[in-house]
Amino acid sequence: MDLICLTDNAYHLRAGSNAGLLLAGGRALVVDSGLDRDAARRILKQVAALHVEVAAVLITHAHADHFGGAGELKRRTGAPVLAPAFEAAVIENPALEPVYLFAGAQPIKELEGKFILAQPCPVDALLQPGRQELFGFELEIIPAPGHAHNQVMVGAPQEGVCFAADAFFPPEVLDKYGIPFYVDIDQTLATLASLPTLPYQLFAQGHGDAYDRHGLEAVLDYNASRIATIRELTAAALAEPADDSQILQQVADALDLAISQPAIYYLTRTTIHACLNSLRRAGRAELSLAENRLLWCAASAR
Ligand SMILES: [Zn+2]
Repeated sequence: MDLICLTDNAYHLRAGSNAGLLLAGGRALVVDSGLDRDAARRILKQVAALHVEVAAVLITHAHADHFGGAGELKRRTGAPVLAPAFEAAVIENPALEPVYLFAGAQPIKELEGKFILAQPCPVDALLQPGRQELFGFELEIIPAPGHAHNQVMVGAPQEGVCFAADAFFPPEVLDKYGIPFYVDIDQTLATLASLPTLPYQLFAQGHGDAYDRHGLEAVLDYNASRIATIRELTAAALAEPADDSQILQQVADALDLAISQPAIYYLTRTTIHACLNSLRRAGRAELSLAENRLLWCAASAR
């Protein structure tokens, strides 16, 4: 885990899944907790090296790689853990993530690896959007839904730093996954569009390096164009009525992806569902039931 100094009082803890640190008055606010106990211990090592105490832990969204270490941070420091509503329910009940990926049924064991099923953590209070002082820190909690249902970003106005969670991904991450995880395509695009309007100089997101305003536009364009590609490939798969597994196969084939793990399949299927609902809202897709199959097709021209 590398400690990257963003400003005098803001740090980016770079790892497979990043965390953020804000310092004030000898105390630290931790933004996200990494995947597991080991990640939490590495965060605490960096906090100790800065000679500060953890005041609180803020979780941006309830994906295992962002909150899996929260329970360990809480146990070791006694610091309160805060998260947005909805996300907090999953952080306290991590089984909800494999359950929703498996359409509500008791999940198969392949959905119980630590990247999907994290350790639980009690949440002490819910994060509300807006400018506020929390534990002596000047903060702005900024809604950023789309990748997760109620994801937030954490802004530090005095530092000019926005901890942007998974509101956008660096190009290397998008290229690695091909079809990243989104629960709502329209909200994701709105979140991307909102980022340049925010009054921050540095955007330190959950994966990869922080971006300054100079580099931000190109990376946001890259994200938006990847999403447009996935949605248009989904639309193209509706020329003939098809069920969701056929649509997923067509989109993945078109992107030359070879999905080799059931967990990746189910994560990808969520993104395809998000595309189908986006197309339906736009009047471009319809669904019907025929012979006990739920079929999607392009909306008939009117
Ligand atoms: Zn995430």
